[in-house]
Amino acid sequence: MKIYKLICLICSFICCGNAEAFEIKFGSLEQGGIVYGTAKGYTEIKIGERRFMVDDNGDFLLAFERDASKDLNMSLIKKDGTEKQQLLLLRTNKWDVQKISGISQKKVTPSANDLAAIKDERRQVQEAVSMVTKIPYWKNGFMQPLNGRVSGKFGGQRIMNGHKMNPHNGMDIAAPVGTPVAAAGDGEVVLAANDLFYTGNVVIVNHGYGLQTIYAHLNEISVKNGQKLKKGDLIGKVGKTGRVSGPHLHWGATLNGIRFNPITLLQLNNSEKNNISSL
Ligand SMILES: [Zn+2]
Repeated sequence: MKIYKLICLICSFICCGNAEAFEIKFGSLEQGGIVYGTAKGYTEIKIGERRFMVDDNGDFLLAFERDASKDLNMSLIKKDGTEKQQLLLLRTNKWDVQKISGISQKKVTPSANDLAAIKDERRQVQEAVSMVTKIPYWKNGFMQPLNGRVSGKFGGQRIMNGHKMNPHNGMDIAAPVGTPVAAAGDGEVVLAANDLFYTGNVVIVNHGYGLQTIYAHLNEISVKNGQKLKKGDLIGKVGKTGRVSGPHLHWGATLNGIRFNPITLLQLNNSEKNNISSL
């Protein structure tokens, strides 16, 4: 862990070149992580085809996919369109294998009749997580939406009823049906939908700058589309709707459509112990 911190520190200097221009302030420079940084004098950051907004203060968020390259080439874009290339070094992670049984077989190998519902769910979720709005709700920091046993980590390769599925794109927190679920941060509800095929009763909250959090398998939903929320406000109750083997909250997070580990959001909070630049 100490070596990682040292690498981060060295990396932050290498990346900077010019210390005022580019700095990672908080977060986790790792596969599946999110970081909060500043890039003064720039308006946008480009990684591959994805563009990340930089606000008037120079603040930005970047997130990294589970399988992101450990050497990420990035372009910092100025208002006049000129670009500066930067290299970002990520810590790699080893992901576990999760064997899950006891799931209704029709949720693992859906029939042709279910395909329309699955397609509709994808459309609704896609629409909600592709929003990029300029209100900096996320700057107020994040909390875990409930306490409980982590029953499924982010990134795990999942085997359901013996079938190899996509890697887990969120974090599962097991808790009894009816346990309150809180909004992880300030924001606005952009999806509150019932009975979706995989996610069941689901809420998606928009935190601005392309960042959303997802709360799935709820027993009941306590919020409406468009409702503004403060961190800690009640969103709904833990349930076992959608594709589950037992009651839990599936907590997900996306930035510009990149699924990352929601627990790394807690490192964005404005506290000294989370400031990787000071370690
Ligand atoms: Zn899950």
